[in-house]
Amino acid sequence: MPKIEFVSESENKIIFKLTDASYALANSIRRAMKSLVPVLAVDYVDFYVNSSNFYDEMIAHRLALLPIKTDLNRFNMREACSCEGVGCPNCQISFRLNVEGPKVVYARDFISDDPSIHFAYGDIPVLELFKGQQLMIEAVARLGTGKEHPKFQPVSACFYRIIPNIEINEKCDLCKNCISACPRNILEEKEGKIVAKNLENCSFCRECEKVCEAKAIRVIETNNFLFVVEGTGALPVKEVLTRAITILKEKAENFNKHLSEIDV
Ligand code: SF4
Ligand code: SF4
Ligand SMILES: [Zn+2]
Repeated sequence: MPKIEFVSESENKIIFKLTDASYALANSIRRAMKSLVPVLAVDYVDFYVNSSNFYDEMIAHRLALLPIKTDLNRFNMREACSCEGVGCPNCQISFRLNVEGPKVVYARDFISDDPSIHFAYGDIPVLELFKGQQLMIEAVARLGTGKEHPKFQPVSACFYRIIPNIEINEKCDLCKNCISACPRNILEEKEGKIVAKNLENCSFCRECEKVCEAKAIRVIETNNFLFVVEGTGALPVKEVLTRAITILKEKAENFNKHLSEIDV
């Protein structure tokens, strides 16, 4: 039975082991975290005044990439909202700005319609206005998923590696070539035997196998994985993981329901 065990966790980074899982399940969890858990991102910008050095498109692009603190209990996906996609306070939020130069405009300068929903990092600079320049805009954000556009991805890094098993058979003559060849310092001699430590750090480079003339060492793939996930700041990363698993469960149940309807 697949199991998750956390190695370390903070709001923006989690490291966990997924054990007894197929490659397909590990990859599904990775992909669901990247592309199925929705977050807010700026989707369009109304420019009332822009006398800065930047084209409207450049500013809109920068704003779309600023992570927004997202409360998934507060917003509906636009297509599932009672406004039927027109846009309303339940599915979108505005960030307003009216400033004049000289000034560096930071993410914190935008005034949100709801103070609890704001850009995750206020100290990100957006652009610099010089004397006599003005920017008056309204940026509108909505929920979306990474499947639709990378600006909606809740994670900036999301990867796993297989935690291998290392087997050493009786042909080993303790030449220690594998110990010196290992770039990750995984192998050591203990009580007359070669043993592996910190297997999570093994990069699967198989250098130890290559230098073993006695063909005594084998690096074996397992069904255990080490995940490293970093968030953008839009959602706590642990919430991204739990929501991704919930979404996968719903998809599997739906798939199962459809299969059970087939009459054979
Ligand atoms: S290289 Fe092979 S024979 Fe030499 S110590 Fe390692 S496992 Fe044993
Ligand atoms: S596969 Fe590479 S990293 Fe892993 S134990 Fe062998 S030499 Fe070290
Ligand atoms: Zn709506």
